[in-house]
Amino acid sequence: MPELPEVETVHKGLQNLEGKKVKSVFRSDKKMRIVSTLDLEELKNAKILEITRRARYLIINFDNKKSLIIHLGMSGKITLQHEFNKLKHDHFALEFANLWLIFNDPRRFGFVDLIENKNIKNHKMLSKLGPEPLSDEFNLSDLKEKLSRKKMNIKTTMMDNEIVVGVGNIYINESLFDSKISPLRDANSLSDAELKKLISSIKKIIAKAIELGGSSINDYVDVKGDLGNFQNSFKVYGRENKKSCATSDENSGGNCLLCKNLIRKIKQNGRSSFYCPQCQK
Ligand SMILES: [Zn+2]
Repeated sequence: MPELPEVETVHKGLQNLEGKKVKSVFRSDKKMRIVSTLDLEELKNAKILEITRRARYLIINFDNKKSLIIHLGMSGKITLQHEFNKLKHDHFALEFANLWLIFNDPRRFGFVDLIENKNIKNHKMLSKLGPEPLSDEFNLSDLKEKLSRKKMNIKTTMMDNEIVVGVGNIYINESLFDSKISPLRDANSLSDAELKKLISSIKKIIAKAIELGGSSINDYVDVKGDLGNFQNSFKVYGRENKKSCATSDENSGGNCLLCKNLIRKIKQNGRSSFYCPQCQK
């Protein structure tokens, strides 16, 4: 599923659409996760003022006081192409002069929602979001206050968008390894020093992932169809000991890069966690 670094990579790839005017709008007849509040046809002849990102949502502001919110869901892809040759799972497209923005989503967990710009902060998907991980609002005092009320494990808790946005499964696994904190710890048991380390690891890992164009583990690609590269930097994610494919190359999986002991894979709240029981306490 596209997480924050992947959506940020898409966001960056769309910047040159700013100032462009919509010539036509395509919408398939398939239902997506949210039915658009306003008629998407209202985008015709509207000019893009600005494209921003909040958590995993892309927000396109138009000069007709409307904003388009796009969420890629589990399998959504946005590409820019010079022609629109409609594929099976293309559900939405905007035509500009010599350019199409095409939203393809096989599993249809994503959505496009056109709303009045003034209502954006109150949108049901955006109103309760916590701070961006790379912002100054994601800091020790804010996190400490929020975690004091949480009894669940730290890994599942940090994936809650009301605590901090965009720290999905890959990035919390990598951040906990980087900060040497076990995913099994209770969220409210971490010392100030551990929370500081975790915050700094999350900022470091997310920034690195954005720099490398996100992670392509399933079928994520950027707007030009190129793969991300952060998957080659995973230190624990997907690196558990796999008995069926034993290998002499210690970097290909199984052993901790720091202590050479086995990486363990467990389930927490239905999601896979990968950690080194020796290094992460
Ligand atoms: Zn280790």
